[in-house]
Amino acid sequence: MISIAIDGPAGSGKSTIAKRLASMLDYLYIDTGAMYRSATYSVLRANLPLSDEKAIVDLVSGLTIELVGSPEEQRVYIDGTEVTRDIRKDDVSSAVSEVSKFKEIRRIMVEKQQRIAKSHPVVMDGRDIGTQVLPEADFKFFLTASLEERARRRKKDFEALEESLDIKQIMDSISKRDEEDANREISPLKQAADAMLIDTTTKSVEEVLAVMLRIINKNEKKEFTS
Ligand code: C5P
Repeated sequence: MISIAIDGPAGSGKSTIAKRLASMLDYLYIDTGAMYRSATYSVLRANLPLSDEKAIVDLVSGLTIELVGSPEEQRVYIDGTEVTRDIRKDDVSSAVSEVSKFKEIRRIMVEKQQRIAKSHPVVMDGRDIGTQVLPEADFKFFLTASLEERARRRKKDFEALEESLDIKQIMDSISKRDEEDANREISPLKQAADAMLIDTTTKSVEEVLAVMLRIINKNEKKEFTS
């Protein structure tokens, strides 16, 4: 089954690009960050200490997390309750790296992600897709952007949620999260050796998509003619 892996740090443009690409190609869009955010949202709602790995794993292993709808209008449900907006809030963003570093949490999520990719063409975005989840992905991209630009993009996301945070606060929070994601023991945020690096700092969404589609179309043609 064909798969496209898109990894990168917070605010690098992954989800915007992944949604558009999935829509254009008519593939499923799997937002793996939304899965870790949903787990974290449930942990916070249950008031579990972030250090209590066993309680967290017990809770998360019993959750049904669903991504529903088209790539550009995807909604997220936990046990049938919609949490699409709740999982984007600052309290979840601040705690998600703590929850996603646990080995058993990652095993649960990766197993779900691999199962979906086995039966559907997917565009999947996250931190470890090219390295761990889909090491055999047909196309791998790693997106980056300057910290300032990533913070500007996140500020816009927060404004859409009617949360107002200043840019300095956002820069601090995303650099802390990137550091935790990049330095964790299991499946850290890392560019796969065979992933193409795209710096999106000064590129529009259309420009990034054009670069990706050129590569995808070129390779598909090669496969077709050989
Ligand atoms: O992509 P997004 O910023 O929504 O991801 C939220 C968090 O989920 C990340 O900061 C990271 O801690 C975790 N995550 C992960 N592995 C993935 C996707 C997200 O650990 N594949």
